[in-house]
Amino acid sequence: MDHSGHDLGVTFLDLDDLSDEDQFIKEQVHKIAFEVVRPASVQLDRMAPGERILEGSPYYAVMNRLKSLGYHKLFLPPEYGGGEGEVTPITLAVVLEELGWGSLGLATSFLVDMMPFLTIAYFGNDDLKEKYLKPWIDDEVGAYHGCWAITEPDHGSDYLTVRGQKEKYSPKGQLIATQANSGWILTGQKSAWVSSGPVATHAAVHAQAGADGDLHHSFFAIVDLSSEGVRKGKVQDMLGVKDDPQGEIFFDEVFVPAENILVAPSPIYPVFGDQLLCVTSASIANVAVGLARAAFEEALNHSRTRMQGGGPISDHKNIKLTLYSMFEKIETARAYARKANYHVRNHALLGFQGGSTGASPRHTRTAQIYAKRIAFEVAHDAIQVLGAFGLSRESIAEKLFRDARCLLIEDGTLEILAFDAVGDVLSNYENSSYQLEEVMAQW
Ligand SMILES: Cc1cc2nc3c(=O)[nH]c(=O)nc-3n(C[C@H](O)[C@H](O)[C@H](O)COP(=O)(O)OP(=O)(O)OC[C@H]3O[C@@H](n4cnc5c(N)ncnc54)[C@H](O)[C@@H]3O)c2cc1C
Repeated sequence: MDHSGHDLGVTFLDLDDLSDEDQFIKEQVHKIAFEVVRPASVQLDRMAPGERILEGSPYYAVMNRLKSLGYHKLFLPPEYGGGEGEVTPITLAVVLEELGWGSLGLATSFLVDMMPFLTIAYFGNDDLKEKYLKPWIDDEVGAYHGCWAITEPDHGSDYLTVRGQKEKYSPKGQLIATQANSGWILTGQKSAWVSSGPVATHAAVHAQAGADGDLHHSFFAIVDLSSEGVRKGKVQDMLGVKDDPQGEIFFDEVFVPAENILVAPSPIYPVFGDQLLCVTSASIANVAVGLARAAFEEALNHSRTRMQGGGPISDHKNIKLTLYSMFEKIETARAYARKANYHVRNHALLGFQGGSTGASPRHTRTAQIYAKRIAFEVAHDAIQVLGAFGLSRESIAEKLFRDARCLLIEDGTLEILAFDAVGDVLSNYENSSYQLEEVMAQW
């Protein structure tokens, strides 16, 4: 094996002692990430925003390839072939890390595609499963593509912190649902940052129920985006994550049948939103570890071959310490991200009972915050190790750095996630407080 780290079939040393099945899937997904996902992501990164979603775009080739390989099925509940037998939370974490290694944007698209359909699997009735879930599971030609339409032009962080703000702040939504005979009518819009919004066929939509309500009084529904009255905005031109098309979705009196409301406007809604953020936090954490590892490997490979000061730069102490620090961050983030993924798979989805058994907000937010932060730091350090080459478009490190910067905002800013985590700590962390003098007197 050479030191490129790209030898296919290479055995990666993993602290978790991956089972043979997990090792196999890791190598398989890495091969796809290396041969398909990353090249397509670089191509998309260099295309004009509108071009990225035209017919024949590499975006669709990647999405269809991932579907044809059945990676999405691993995330389904056991009755649909996922999460059973050899598929464990580690398997899912491994898949997400390898996809994150290939591309943050395309890994994000892979995740949001699942959002409407996975929630149908857990919360939908048989009719919905027949109508949407089953065709999505078997779709390999892009006939079904999901997105998660939550944020609005005036509500980014607000929507993600519905849980903690109820008493103090009741923001009014910009997507309002009014009750009709056999369903609801949606009017308004979602933000320009909805991942895969411009290409999605179906959306998992959060909407405020009634014009007099607020974001706390919302519901979660599946909306067919071919419905009359749906309009899409242009593809945004962002700093990074250009391989994940982002754009607005407008709703002009769009009818949503009552059976498509998966979580009704009720006290359960904020609990559901909170639990959903536990799941996305654990997923994004594992993807972030993949991005960080990609940056680290670029730096490592370069340091072994770049000659300066009479030898490879890896001989210099500053480079050695930088590489160690990158390695330490990735290993610790991976351990926590996998643990969080294990936790949510056991508590948030399979164990979700209307709030009685839920995943831990403070732990999952911490996993997301830590992994996102170290991904940015590692991507930053990689450029320093690569020197000017790291700033060049010829180096993947340049793209990784831009993507890592976007990651600090995607799925909640670090600050907002931290406020959310510490809110949970302040409300729910129990410990044995004691007066030192009293304890000493009894000792
Ligand atoms: C790559 C990417 C992908 C995304 N994908 C999706 C998607 O699939 N679906 C979707 O709906 N949205 C998506 N988003 C939107 C994302 O969730 C929001 O951008 C994010 O939650 C922050 O909201 P905002 O951008 O409106 O910033 P704002 O909420 O306006 O925040 C601006 C700044 O103010 C701070 N701030 C805000 N509120 C408070 C407060 N109460 N207290 C203290 N500080 C505060 C924030 O920390 C931040 O620094 C995506 C964003 C990105 C970058």
